[in-house]
Amino acid sequence: MAVETVVPATNGIAAKVGPATHEKDAEKLRFIEEMTANPDAVQEKVLAEILTRNAETEYLRRYGLGGATDRLTFKAKVPVVTYEDLQPEIQRIANGDRSAILSAHPISEFLTSSGTSAGERKLMPTIKEELDRRQLLYSLLMPVMNLYVPGLDKGKGLYFLFVKSETNTPGGLTARPVLTSYYKSEHFKSRPYDPYNVYTSPTAAILCADAFQSMYAQMLCGLLQRLDVLRVGAVFASGLLRAIRFLQLHWKELSQDIAAGTLTAKVTDPSIRGAVAELLRPDPELARFVAAECSEGEWAGIITRIWPNTKYLDVIVTGAMAQYIPTLEYYSGGLPMACTMYASSECYFGLNLNPMCDPSEVSYTIMPNMAYFEFLPHGGDGRHPGEGVDTAQLVDLADVEVGKEYELVITTYAGLNRYRVGDVLRVTGFHNAAPQFRFVRRKNVLLSIESDKTDEAELQKAVESASALLRPYNASVVEYTSHADTKAIPGHYVIYWELLAKDSSSSAAAAAAALARDAVMERCCLAMEEALNSVYRQSRVADGSIGPLEIRVVRGGTFEELMDYAISRGASINQYKVPRCVNFPPILELLDSRVVSAHFSPALPKWIPHFPGRN
Ligand code: AMP
Repeated sequence: MAVETVVPATNGIAAKVGPATHEKDAEKLRFIEEMTANPDAVQEKVLAEILTRNAETEYLRRYGLGGATDRLTFKAKVPVVTYEDLQPEIQRIANGDRSAILSAHPISEFLTSSGTSAGERKLMPTIKEELDRRQLLYSLLMPVMNLYVPGLDKGKGLYFLFVKSETNTPGGLTARPVLTSYYKSEHFKSRPYDPYNVYTSPTAAILCADAFQSMYAQMLCGLLQRLDVLRVGAVFASGLLRAIRFLQLHWKELSQDIAAGTLTAKVTDPSIRGAVAELLRPDPELARFVAAECSEGEWAGIITRIWPNTKYLDVIVTGAMAQYIPTLEYYSGGLPMACTMYASSECYFGLNLNPMCDPSEVSYTIMPNMAYFEFLPHGGDGRHPGEGVDTAQLVDLADVEVGKEYELVITTYAGLNRYRVGDVLRVTGFHNAAPQFRFVRRKNVLLSIESDKTDEAELQKAVESASALLRPYNASVVEYTSHADTKAIPGHYVIYWELLAKDSSSSAAAAAAALARDAVMERCCLAMEEALNSVYRQSRVADGSIGPLEIRVVRGGTFEELMDYAISRGASINQYKVPRCVNFPPILELLDSRVVSAHFSPALPKWIPHFPGRN
């Protein structure tokens, strides 16, 4: 039943595109309107709530707030911090200290961020009720989407969703990624039936930690229900591309299962087998169809060919994921891509109120009820003005200015106070009085294939550690740069090395022969991988979502040519620095045209799902 005039006729989202389709949606849209009408008042209330409840925590007592819950006192007394500043407190909680260190509410678990510190995932303490807050944000997504895409209750979503392995801290708290925590929660497992949120994937398949079994079952169920599928998605673009790669590799087996109506013995998880058995019947016609579509060798538009009723892709393609837009366009025949939300392990931030817009236009509206948000102005040159943080510069959510860039700083119910998330956002406009933000980038990320984030220092360390293997050969790395190559799935890191043979008596050719004989460059590739952070290594080992690292050796003088090129385009010779990551196609072409040999990592690096800091 259509509900008329559900939100104020002026400026409301529903007013822009038509009324909400049912009362539940109308209520959610009203909530968005309420929250965005006066974000400053909501923020004031949120901060007061957080400071009241956490007043007796060790952390806040340290700064002598004296029970004050107002913004002025808070800003004057509490410092802006990074993860590293909080590490002593976090370590104590992880070791089992149950006192109210950061939060007055008991820490229920740690969420392991894809952001790393000293090579290990950051651990974000969280409390039970944060699940409700996350759930609340999720509950706003479909009411907004329903305004733009009608009829989503007439079919299903094919979503590739996965849990990852979890560990325990020495003090016995679970540490796992935020989505793993969410999918394993009753909020997700026992969610009430909602015709707008029906998935083709059985919950048992989503909850299986074995990546192959989970993906196989989710793909199979997606194929079995192909005509019901109205939207196809994954959290990030890289996840959806992995699913397509999986189909490329396993379509024969999948179609055999469909033809016979039996599930491969490779899927052993009894609850998956039970769930799939409810759907799987011999269907030779569907099996022939799948095999015909997949064996053509032509993968353009495969998503719409197999799932012809798909109206849009639901994947994040902003930030580091923008590199996958052309590939997704290729596989989907140009379907719209909806980036619906912006969230992190620390806190869920907000949603896109215009989800069917072009990826380049995506702006997220931060919901002021999720946490207390501050914004550190970010210089256009990528540096903060002055050394350290001038806390007087931070502005409130309601005071950001259109066109300016800021780094996000959050104060959460779970006990992070003035915490720098590391994301840089640009204000693009307002919804009601609430600012909307374009995700510009995450600070210090040089290379990223999926959730891995490698910074310049980590790359440098990896190059140093690998180049030690060259020493016995009297060779060294004179210059290097890198590129995240996502042309093939999975993507992989490419590191360009220019080598120098130190021993002038030995010719370059002889040095090259010795290096080749001992497969030194291959060992260097693996040594680099061993030196990269644990998120990278987990993606390589447990998820297979990053391919083997490649070193491309370029001929002598290449990096000088690179400098000449930059200078010819206006760079100052005095200020020129070798870029440690290149994406500009002409420079990549130049580098690739100078490659003398390419080498791949011959093995997987070490990765064990252990608690960081434990041996
Ligand atoms: P994690 O802590 O591993 O959950 O990662 C959270 C980070 O992922 C955020 O701080 C952002 O850098 C990035 N991220 C999350 N959502 C988006 C989005 N919609 N667009 C771009 N980047 C995002």
